[in-house]
Formats: sequence, structure tokens, C-alpha cells
Amino acid sequence: MPGTLYLVPTPIGNLSDLSPRAVETLSQADFIAAEDTRVTLKLLNHFTIKKPMVAYYRHNTAAGGQTILKRLLDGETCALVSDAGTPAVSDPGEEMVRLCVDHGVEVIALPGPCALTTALSVSGLPTGRFTFEGFLAMNKKNRRDHLNSLKNEARTMIFYEAPHKLLTTLEDLAAVFGPDRSVALCRELTKLHEEVVRTTLGAAAARYAQQPPKGEFVLVVAGTEPAKEEEPDLDAALAQVAALRREGAPLKEAVRQVSDALGLKRNLLYAMALEADKQ
Ligand code: SAM
Repeated sequence: MPGTLYLVPTPIGNLSDLSPRAVETLSQADFIAAEDTRVTLKLLNHFTIKKPMVAYYRHNTAAGGQTILKRLLDGETCALVSDAGTPAVSDPGEEMVRLCVDHGVEVIALPGPCALTTALSVSGLPTGRFTFEGFLAMNKKNRRDHLNSLKNEARTMIFYEAPHKLLTTLEDLAAVFGPDRSVALCRELTKLHEEVVRTTLGAAAARYAQQPPKGEFVLVVAGTEPAKEEEPDLDAALAQVAALRREGAPLKEAVRQVSDALGLKRNLLYAMALEADKQ
């Protein structure tokens, strides 16, 4: 019988965020698949966990994935971790999960630290509906196409970004969404120098042009405001009713035509026309 792949979220800064269940899962797994075994070794040492590790990272997902899959199919249990945060969210774990799903290996995800949800929850922007956009591509055309596809996005948008690309990304976001669009820059979450700057895209770009950004960032960008419905122009509607009546249309017929044309409530326009007659 195949073993199980456990997805184990690890702290994004604060070691106390590793849950007791995560410690238990790491301790009980037959082996750990880690994005960077040196990073994970520090975590394991901190929690005095001794466990064999294999590397599973962006450039070895094909061969590394097959090795892990074979061991899982042979009945072993694997705990998959990334450098920090939730495996499979903007890191290579996604492919490992797919491989297991395709081969009937059970996958169990532990809830835990994730930069995306931590940033969204603290952003102060609407959380009811949001879209996670991950990292923007380096390639200019792909980047532009990605951003253009979000031009009319009404949901809150979340981007991951590396500090050395932050300024370019803010400038690109300001060019597409406008400099006045609200953004929460969530920096070094859960760490000593944690900071959330709630501002606009234009002001953020100006700030980081002066002062080069440091640390890890999640950008939470407000969606576009829904277009305001135009207030119906009731005076114009009444004028149209009066004009039709001057041409010989009975009141009811004039009201019907105008309210249908302008999408107004017939009863309302009728009552207003009667009132206007009294004056
Ligand atoms: N799978 C991880 C997760 O979802 O938590 C994210 C992995 S992704 C390769 C790394 C990106 O997550 C960083 O470039 C940054 O955008 C974001 N990130 C990770 N830790 C962070 C932190 N402490 N504060 C702010 N952003 C962070």
C-alpha cells in the first residue's frame, strides 16, 4: 500500500509558528523532502528532529519527483517542506502534489504559515474576494500581458515579489492600475522588522525610489471600484413625457414609452407627471 505525502508549512520568519502537529509530522515521517536541505536542517535542529532528507527544488522536480514518488509507492511516508511557508504555493511542491494525485498517493495538507494569507488578512483591503497572482514574469511581454489581463479586476490582488524587483513592479502596477490605487506593502511578516505600509501605488513607487527596499514583500493591491450606476435624470424624463403629450399621446402612453426607454419605474414617473400637472 502506498505511503502518504504530508505538506508541512514552516515558519515564514517566526519559529514559534511551527505548529505542534507540524513537529509531530516531521518527526514521524520516514523522510523529509526539502527545497533547501541546509535551511530545513536549521529548523530541524531547532526542534531537535533528526530525519533523513532529500532535496526537491525547482531544477530537479523531474528526477527528484520520481525518486520521492517511488519511495511513496513503496509505502514510505514523506513530509514535504519548502524554504518557508506553505509548500505548493508559488514553490515546486505544486508538481509533487500533482505527481502523487496522478499516481493515487494520498496527500495530506497541514494548515500553517503562508505569506499570502498573512498579508491579505493584515492588509486592511477587502478580503471577501481576492485573487493570488504569485510572482510577475521577468519577461517584459509576459509581464505586460499578465498585468493587462488584470486591468478590470475588481477583486483584491496579491503579488509576491523579491526586493530587487519591487520598485519596477510598483512602477508597472501604477502604470496599469493608476498611481492612486490603494496598496498594502507587507514586509518581513512575522519577523523582527515586520512592517505593513498602507498607501497608494504612486506613493509607494516614490518611497522606494528614494530608499531601496529590503526584505521580503507581499503586495496586496485593491481591485478596481465597481462603476457607479448613473442616477436617472428625472427632470429630463418628465420633459420627454410632456413633449409626447404635446404631440397628442395620452399620459399613460407617454409615461410607458419614456419609462421603458430610460429604464425608469413606470409608477414613479406616472406619479411625478401627475404632480407636475398640479403645479
Ligand atoms: N510558499 C510560500 C508561502 O506561500 O508562504 C512562499 C514561497 S515564495 C518562493 C517566496 C515569496 O513569499 C517571497 O518572495 C515573498 O514575496 C513572500 N514571503 C515569504 N516570506 C515572507 C515574509 N516573511 N514577509 C513577506 N513576504 C514573504
